[in-house]
Amino acid sequence: MVTICKVFTVARSRPTLEGAGVHLKRAFGQADPRLDPFLLLDDFHSDNPNDYVAGFPWHPHRGIETITYMLHGSIAHGDSMGNKGLIQPGDVQWMTAGSGIIHEEMPQRTPGLLWGFQLWANLPASHKMMAPRYREVTQRQIPEVELDSAVRAKIICGKIGDVSGPVTDIVTDPSYFDVTMKPGATLRHAIAKGHNALAYVLRGNGYFDGGKDNPIGAEHLLVFEDGDEVRIRAGDQALRFLLISGKPIREPVAWRGPIVMNTEKELRIAFEEYQRGTFIALINDFFA
Ligand code: MN
Repeated sequence: MVTICKVFTVARSRPTLEGAGVHLKRAFGQADPRLDPFLLLDDFHSDNPNDYVAGFPWHPHRGIETITYMLHGSIAHGDSMGNKGLIQPGDVQWMTAGSGIIHEEMPQRTPGLLWGFQLWANLPASHKMMAPRYREVTQRQIPEVELDSAVRAKIICGKIGDVSGPVTDIVTDPSYFDVTMKPGATLRHAIAKGHNALAYVLRGNGYFDGGKDNPIGAEHLLVFEDGDEVRIRAGDQALRFLLISGKPIREPVAWRGPIVMNTEKELRIAFEEYQRGTFIALINDFFA
């Protein structure tokens, strides 16, 4: 028998000030067994450059992956490995900090709307100190599948039917979809056994547990309970949402700012190394 994933919690994303003064909305930002392996989801969404141009100047990460997905506008980035570029509309940057990177992420002044997301995925103890790695995925590399005439999904990571997303070989085996549904359309999607799943509504409204009572609207996070599949039905408006799932790590979390380790001692070492200038494992002349 197929069990439908019930909705465990629904919460509205909250205005948060981050970086050097970026006004964003945080869907979640805490270690939670129901969200594991994910730690944070931020929604940058503004037509006022004063909300975002201060950006995220040089800062370190260790022990996690940060996944940036842009819908409108762009973010310039540079890092301690010498990478430099622009994350443009429809693009994804999947950054595995591993043992450590130092980078900057600067939203570019955009006429009209800047809209994007940053998701943090934790790394297990076995991979926290892996070599850092960047994956730049352009819009053209992200397949969009038509499940039926009323449901489309962009696949950043994971698989729908026999179509896989461009980001593979991630230790927590995540799926990351951007789903659009016409009013009244329905979707059934299997969740891998034991994986945690969440949805974040971008536009419109919908029913996320097969029920009919409470349509959930934009800027709401839904956390699912265990089950075999999610069943989603768009409400009276076209529905767009992110559907994200992954394999829980189930390890202790020691988290301070941009660094997430297993123990306080590992955190202390990381910040000491950052202060001393020995944070980056691969010495290069970038900061010389
Ligand atoms: Mn960062």
